[in-house]
Amino acid sequence: MEELPLPPGFDAAKVQQAMRAFVSALGQDKVFLEDEDRIAYHDKFAIDDTHHLPLGAVAPTTVEEVQAAVKIANQYLLPLWPISRGKNLGYGGNAPLLSGSVVLDLSRMKKIEFDPESGVVTLEPGVGFYDLYDYLKQHDLPFWLSTPGNSWGSVIGNALDRGVGYTPYGENTKNICGLEVVLPTGEVVRTGMGAFPKAPTWGVYPFGFGPGWDQMFVQSNFGIVTKANMWLMPEPESLMGMDVEFDKPEDLKAMVDTIGPLRRERVLTQSPSIGNWLRAAAVVTRRNEWTDKPGALSDDVIDAIRKKFNIGWWGVSLRLYGREEINKAAYKVLEKAMNDIKPMLIKPTSWVKGQPKEHSGWTGTPMTFPMQNVNWYGGRGGHIGFSPIIPQDGTKALEQFNRTYSRYKEYGMDYQGSFAFGERHLINVNAMIFDKDDAEKMKRIDPFFRALVKDAEEMGYGEYRTHLDYMDLVAKTYSWGGGALNRLNEKVKDALDPNGILAPGKSGIWPNRLRKERGQ
Ligand code: ADP
Repeated sequence: MEELPLPPGFDAAKVQQAMRAFVSALGQDKVFLEDEDRIAYHDKFAIDDTHHLPLGAVAPTTVEEVQAAVKIANQYLLPLWPISRGKNLGYGGNAPLLSGSVVLDLSRMKKIEFDPESGVVTLEPGVGFYDLYDYLKQHDLPFWLSTPGNSWGSVIGNALDRGVGYTPYGENTKNICGLEVVLPTGEVVRTGMGAFPKAPTWGVYPFGFGPGWDQMFVQSNFGIVTKANMWLMPEPESLMGMDVEFDKPEDLKAMVDTIGPLRRERVLTQSPSIGNWLRAAAVVTRRNEWTDKPGALSDDVIDAIRKKFNIGWWGVSLRLYGREEINKAAYKVLEKAMNDIKPMLIKPTSWVKGQPKEHSGWTGTPMTFPMQNVNWYGGRGGHIGFSPIIPQDGTKALEQFNRTYSRYKEYGMDYQGSFAFGERHLINVNAMIFDKDDAEKMKRIDPFFRALVKDAEEMGYGEYRTHLDYMDLVAKTYSWGGGALNRLNEKVKDALDPNGILAPGKSGIWPNRLRKERGQ
């Protein structure tokens, strides 16, 4: 047996006591403490495999069992790390931040209730995008999902980490309308209209009366979400749009300055994402088919790859959803706007209700193929992403690209970047693909990531979401008022979680008892 990763203040005997308490409350089949369990709950894309080691896991199936687990955690001062399906690859997967934490695996809670009248689905945390997709199909319900590039995860987990999809309902966290939450002390609360004993409007009015709390449980460690109402998009009558390719890196400026206003005016209601050639190529080919030279790829290799697959330096897909007549008119607006900035290629696409659907993120079909990009270097592939929020401004986007691309070259990495439109912002996702079997290159990832955080901080840009390794680092960049926001977060944390048992360190928020672990 491997050495146990002990939580702070624990020895092996105390671990056994706590685990016996879990077994007697939940039953043996819901408690996992073997070596292979610890491997199963370890981050598969970890940059350093010695970090974030779970002690084990417990997998409750009801709210009462979640409460029972929380009670035991409070008794023993044992940190719990909640996950829904734990497929948050690139951000820590199913592993806890603090080594020695017990993973609270909610993937067995899989109830789905749906109100076709309002288009509101009430989900438990274990419901994956594939589960919900199958459910809608089985019951012949004309609603679409908005799926992320790795749709293996849960709908709730994705919304709680502010993951995005590609339809007009792409900002999944905005589709939350009322939560049920087990607080760190074990009480259950329902937010918004759910505070009514009978609550027919729980899933339709997000604010309730008084303060709204839904976002407080997003990217935080203030509660365990056991239920969420989410809005689904009614199936549109028509879906029209175009895939557009641009030839030069500098075209990014015009693309952002042309698409941005269309998005802000809501001619476009979905969130287009401008991606570079490698985003398209890394899922269909591998690096060693093109070169064996180390360092960032040279321009002539990039040109050869682009030529083979007929892709631009940048590509973007624009889609219109809704009534056909309106889409046809809006399409003309898009077409003119794109032609004005001289694309290399425009490929139109069009669908109407009744026709077979394209299996892609644009129709909210669950998918996993974008994860193929981790095979780019060969070996045991993985990735993390550096994703600052930047203004929706072409000049600033191009500056951000130039700065970042130079860093990729400096650290000898192939650039995979994208700029995803929100309504008023861009998320600049920079994927760092790696091969875990290449020890020399793995050593470069951490300093590379830190350099990008520093560059962005100097511009006033902060990450929207980050890997467990960098939660403290990123939280520290949100430093206005001498870190006033983090002080507020930790004041709330101490009030809600006096024993500091829930997800210590998540988003840089540490409970009083464990604050000395910050930055460790
Ligand atoms: P997915 O199921 O989409 O793979 P994860 O389970 O990996 O998502 O969760 C993503 C992030 O959200 C993790 O940091 C996790 O701690 C947090 N999280 C997930 N589910 C819950 C939940 N039910 N309550 C509170 N936090 C959660």
